Amino acid sequence: MQLDFLTLLATTAISLFMISASLPLIMGRNISAAARDVQATLLLQALAWVAIIASNFAPTPLIDRALSTVSIGCGMAALWMNYRALTGWLGPRPWPRLLQALMLASPLGYFLGFDSYAFRVGWANALLAAATLLVARAALWPRLRAETGWRMLVCASMLVMASLTLARGILGAFTDQYPHFSTPHPVNLAFALAACVTVVLNTIALLVAWRDETELKLRELAVTDPLTGLPNRRGFEERAGAMLAHARRHELPLTAIMLDLDHFKQVNDQHGHEVGDHALALFARLLKDTHRNGDLAARLGGEEFCLLLHDDTCAGLPLDQRLRQRLRQAAPAELGFALDFSAGIAALHRSDTDIHPLLARADAALYEAKATGRGRLCSAAPRNS
Ligand code: GH3
Ligand code: MG
Ligand code: MG
Repeated sequence: MQLDFLTLLATTAISLFMISASLPLIMGRNISAAARDVQATLLLQALAWVAIIASNFAPTPLIDRALSTVSIGCGMAALWMNYRALTGWLGPRPWPRLLQALMLASPLGYFLGFDSYAFRVGWANALLAAATLLVARAALWPRLRAETGWRMLVCASMLVMASLTLARGILGAFTDQYPHFSTPHPVNLAFALAACVTVVLNTIALLVAWRDETELKLRELAVTDPLTGLPNRRGFEERAGAMLAHARRHELPLTAIMLDLDHFKQVNDQHGHEVGDHALALFARLLKDTHRNGDLAARLGGEEFCLLLHDDTCAGLPLDQRLRQRLRQAAPAELGFALDFSAGIAALHRSDTDIHPLLARADAALYEAKATGRGRLCSAAPRNS
């Protein structure tokens, strides 16, 4: 079997063009910025390969110089887009400025130093390898968690390409074993073969990342109340379970406060459903502003909310007061009428193995607040079990 360098690169370019053309069809129009960056990555890679192949057939040195420089620029831009996609999915990545500097310096130095073969090959490949290593690092760092299969794949692809790119740079700059771009040197052939394979692996990895992103969005939707942005009952139960386990493990207090807007049906009847929605959103906003980081606020349904505090019930009383005061000020100003709520507070008992008995006690206290005149906080009977 004869491996031909240019044929391998042409195959890679064709694969990349085909993938680039089909991805928008598969992914549709309504996609995230990160998913768009992936599409740009693949297209830029394809352009980089086509430009470098075309440069081999350039009729004049100037066209060769221009096409090769375009290729380096596209290759670097593809890496930058890949990095941006990782940033979109995983949050800020390290050293973006360095990557941008490499992206500019690489084609510039290559163009200016084109007349020296050793310099241009050494320069371009060293900088490409460095940029590829930065993307490899960005795929895995920081915050490596369980769902890292695709991140490992991106990192591995990048590491292989970075090593072979660097090897080409060293051969071209310091030896005479690599006198031309398409020299059939084993390192060069390994590079072309790796380019073919890593294109496939990197594309698979990025598609899996995109699927994860879509799954995450769906999960967020399933656990979030769209009107208030608070966790809904499902989201509350998931996170409350974790808070309860933490409290039990470390013998920490846990307090639930059930809150229910008073006479809310009348708000809808007198002012319309839209104003009712506005009132719910306002109450949720005040609730978010009132509780501390680490506490959990949720809309359990209708005009019923819940707060879970990593604190004992004493901390619930001032919190209730603060919320009442803020609502007293904000409701007339924003809605044009007063709004009030009733609340029931209960503490975790040692015998509570799940969240439901705690919520039931807070609910009973809320019922008492309603029954004894509304607009107040009632406590569930304390018990030391
Ligand atoms: P109470 O003081 O006893 O709690 O009386 P209430 O009127 O607040 O309670 P009730 O359970 O009788 O009525 C709750 C109302 O909340 C009825 C329902 O139309 C309204 N509601 C529930 N969800 C929404 C919503 O998403 N938007 C709006 N605008 N209203 C809602
Ligand atoms: Mg109510
Ligand atoms: Mg209610």
